[in-house]
This record gives sequence, C-alpha cells and structure tokens, in this order.
Amino acid sequence: MALINKCDITCRCGERFTAEYVSYVFADIDPELKDAILKDHFNCAVCPQCGMTFFQEHPFIYRDEANKLWIEVGYPPNAAKGKDIPAIQGHYLEGQENYRQFKVADRAALIAVLFSEDPEFKKISSRLDENEPVFIAPQKGDIPVVLFYEYQGLQLGQRLHASHHDGKPDTWVSNYCTALAVHNLFNSRLKPADAERWNAVWQTTKHVAASGIYEDFAVSFADFMDDAKAFSDNWPLQSQFFTSLGSAIFNSGHYFAASFAELESALQAEQAQPA
Ligand SMILES: [Zn+2]
Repeated sequence: MALINKCDITCRCGERFTAEYVSYVFADIDPELKDAILKDHFNCAVCPQCGMTFFQEHPFIYRDEANKLWIEVGYPPNAAKGKDIPAIQGHYLEGQENYRQFKVADRAALIAVLFSEDPEFKKISSRLDENEPVFIAPQKGDIPVVLFYEYQGLQLGQRLHASHHDGKPDTWVSNYCTALAVHNLFNSRLKPADAERWNAVWQTTKHVAASGIYEDFAVSFADFMDDAKAFSDNWPLQSQFFTSLGSAIFNSGHYFAASFAELESALQAEQAQPA
C-alpha cells in the first residue's frame, strides 16, 4: 500500500490548505499511481478556493514487485538512503539484493528507466515510430496535460508547465505543443544527429533556467516563432538550430484538441479503427 504524507500549501489566491502526497509507490498494488505518474498527474493538489493545480515534487520511491524494480526518484546523487522521505524507515528494502536499484533525478529519468527495464514499456517502445500520431490538448481543464500518447492501453502524458505559458497568446501555446510533439520524453521525430546537436545546444546554454531538455526545446521554438529576430539576437545557437531543421518537421504527425474531452473522444475514435 502506498505511503501517504501531508504538507501545507499556500496558494497565490491566499488560501492555505493541507495536501496529501505519496512518497512510496507500489506499482503492482496501486496501478492508479503508476498511471498518474505516466500521465503526469502524480502528486498534484488542487486549491479548494480557486481551483489552481499544484504539482508537488517531493522525492518518492517507485517499487515494482513483479519486475523487481526499486527506483528512488528526486534524490541528490549522494543522499543517504531514505533521508528525504518521511516515515520511510521500516519500508526500506534491506537485504533484498534481487531488486534492480536505481536513483534518478525526476519523472523524466524514471520513465527513461521504465523504457529500458519494464517489459510493458519495452514492448511499446519497440512500436514507436515517427508516423505515430501525438495527441495534444493545449492547457484546458483542471489538469493541463498537453501531450498524450496511447499505445496498447498504456497512456503517457506530459503537462505544460504553467510558468512557461502564463499570459502567452494561443499561437505561442500552439507552437509550444507542436515542438513538444516533435521532440519529447517518449519519442522524437528528430534525426539522431539533430537530437545530438540539440543536446549540445542545451548543454551550452539554457533558454529557460532549470528546464528540461524537451521543455527548453518547446519554449525556445515557441519564442523563435513569436519573434525570430529578437530571439536570434539573444539566442543565436537555438535560432540556428531551428533554422537548420526546416519547417517540414513541424508539420506532421500530431492532432490538436481544443479540450481534454475532445482529446479523449479522439483517442477513442483512433482505437475504434481496425488495425
Ligand atoms: Zn487558490
């Protein structure tokens, strides 16, 4: 059974409330928690006053008994075992050497481990190809998931970070989503050499401080499309990279929905088609 903790949150509307978060996920026993991690809804809390969604980023342990996986998420590399997780003592795996153990920085890195270690993911990653559609719902509803894949019943989501798009026009959000559909945690339509080039750009200079490699790709592209001249003055490496890609890569393979409900019905229609 999952280990649940509480913490206090102060919303920007002034409301203070107590939220729960999970610090120990048993993937086999609580499949809905695994599902929440994959869809990027994990440990989110909603302000009871104004409805704002908070994504809490507490460290947690991901344990998969069937596949003997033990993954510590959100740990500084040299942290003591369980140090940052309240009440984890007694739940820790001591002497269970048959588990494969990993320490990763965040959800993206957790999913990367699942792609290599979880048979359900291995099966799916072998099916990913550049023509596979991507479903995108730009920032509507309580949970702002923007990117959505479904393969053989496994659903993967990637939320749009509110701090990136607050106050931006719809065209900016649309360009952000387009770029995320091209290059994201689950799949990339970039040629391997281009992905390597982007990696080098991102390592050299980050457009958005502390953002991940895929978010930075999406935010940079949206800003580039918004005002190419101003962007290239400030971010020449990113600008040269997008110019070199050409426009064709941004024109295929994804489906935009105006709302989360429309997204769900599009997915159902996709499933209903004969294979
Ligand atoms: Zn609030």
